Amino acid sequence: MFCKNCGKEISDNAYVCPNCGVKVENDANEKNPLAEKRTNPLAIVGFVLAFLIPIAGLICSIIGKKQCAERNEGGAGLALAGLIISIVEMCIVLLYIIIVVAVVGALV
Ligand SMILES: [Zn+2]
Repeated sequence: MFCKNCGKEISDNAYVCPNCGVKVENDANEKNPLAEKRTNPLAIVGFVLAFLIPIAGLICSIIGKKQCAERNEGGAGLALAGLIISIVEMCIVLLYIIIVVAVVGALV
């Protein structure tokens, strides 16, 4: 194949042109099924935070999920899991607060 930038012949497997350094628009690079999809870091952070700080986990998961779609990154499922866990945890905390308030209210 030839470099689209400088026209010099380069290897079909080249990712960057050795002559001009421009990234090669290579079909083999684009469609390589072995090329690992990068996992969105926010999706991971959101998932972990969901267990520790649900509100922070929820925010990170929402942003992470959005970035997964925008950047075609992996981790959308992880972000969704973080989102659900955060919401469930917040519901449990809310329920707990309601129970405590009701119990305290009944005692006073
Ligand atoms: Zn070139």
